[in-house]
Amino acid sequence: MILDSFRCVQHMINSSSTHTIAILPQGKMLAEVKPVGYHYGWDNFVLSSTLEKMQYLASLTVKNLRESIKDDEVVKLILASWFPGVETKAIDHQSLQSFPRKQGTNILHKDFVEDYEKFILAGNVVVLGGNDNNESSNMVEYEKELQYPFTGEVKTNIVARKAGKWWILFDQETGSQLIFSFHDGIEHLYRTKRRLVGLETPIGVDLKITNYCSHGCLYCYESSTMEGKHYFGDWDAIAKAFLDNGILEVALSGGEPMMHPDFFDICWTFCKHDVVPSFTTRCINWLKDNAYLSTVNNVCGGFAISVGEQNYPTKIRKIAKFTEGKIDPGKITVQIVLGTLGKFQYSKMVNLCSRYGFRLSLLGFKNIGRGKSFKVRDYSWWLRVLEECDDPPYIVIDSVLASQYSKELQQSKIPMWQYNQWDGKFTCYIDLVDGIIAESSYNKDKGQSIDVDYLSDVIPDFFSKRKCGSTA
Ligand code: SF4
Repeated sequence: MILDSFRCVQHMINSSSTHTIAILPQGKMLAEVKPVGYHYGWDNFVLSSTLEKMQYLASLTVKNLRESIKDDEVVKLILASWFPGVETKAIDHQSLQSFPRKQGTNILHKDFVEDYEKFILAGNVVVLGGNDNNESSNMVEYEKELQYPFTGEVKTNIVARKAGKWWILFDQETGSQLIFSFHDGIEHLYRTKRRLVGLETPIGVDLKITNYCSHGCLYCYESSTMEGKHYFGDWDAIAKAFLDNGILEVALSGGEPMMHPDFFDICWTFCKHDVVPSFTTRCINWLKDNAYLSTVNNVCGGFAISVGEQNYPTKIRKIAKFTEGKIDPGKITVQIVLGTLGKFQYSKMVNLCSRYGFRLSLLGFKNIGRGKSFKVRDYSWWLRVLEECDDPPYIVIDSVLASQYSKELQQSKIPMWQYNQWDGKFTCYIDLVDGIIAESSYNKDKGQSIDVDYLSDVIPDFFSKRKCGSTA
């Protein structure tokens, strides 16, 4: 099994029962110890035979099926066809795993269950039962440990996409994303510009819906103004094209996307087609409106609010005041463009985000558009400030910053699988206003013109033929 990358934006869940799928070292065997009764609970057990491992997997599967299909007869029929003649048992709720469903449906991804089955039935894989209250639990010392991020109560908002031998699992609620393979012996990709073999369309798209913006930031690399145009088109067809291409999330951008007259309709339309929308804005007054907040809470994966230059502490405090108790702070990201503020302001922002539980998104400066004539401030201290912070907030960085500071990131021992330096590897940019597709928004001069009416064909055409990361 290989992990390529993992974007975790949820807290780890501490289990009391701890069930582990363990890959044993070569030559090592463990004798089977069956669980007590008809329950995979807190007791120590070892499942090493095909039958017992199959029963464990079928038990996990039935729990997941029941979560999305309320008709028990239908669940039984599906189970009988996927695991003919295999009995199931109850599993302690703290050791349950959420299996992904197929995007656009409420059906479990059958290919995922099949791949899991092939993996778990291998001779060197065992299922170990135990609990974390007992020192002798699980009976083995693990060489490496990875907690499957979707454990605990079964959730139905995990969607999956398969790319060759790779799986991309995406939690629509928290934004966590896990890219891994059940197979050994395939190349790790996080160190390279290459994409996963078989990834013919992006996982996410940065979608520019307007070039209108009244904020007038002096460093705006999109050069957006109040003369900028909105895009008006068939949002249903666009969202459907995204779903058909397996695009899991869309970041609505501009200009100022919230100034698009159809903004909330656009969000609803993507949500309806099982593509999770998020957006970046500089506006905060809408946070005072409970109806807008509740729409965003129900429909969007999250949002980022740009702050910077003047009055940033007041702005962050206002965000906290308007949203307190109404929206999960984990859905809120504060975004700053490095190079536009000094070290003191930056440190203060880091602390404020930490205090209010907001994520902090850091963007590398882009020397294009109005950014060309902006006097950029030094920001070589950005990582040091975070390292010196006792309780830093959850940090998100863009690929520009990751590539500008790749050496420093490596020295700071942040695992390379936690960030990506190359645009176009998993995502792309589509400017609906000017009809352009490109690897990223700041690289659109190297993109190509498109007919927006044919997005379904345009996206795979551009993405699969292009070598990603050519600008890194
Ligand atoms: S940076 Fe963003 S908020 Fe500022 S002018 Fe450009 S589009 Fe508007």
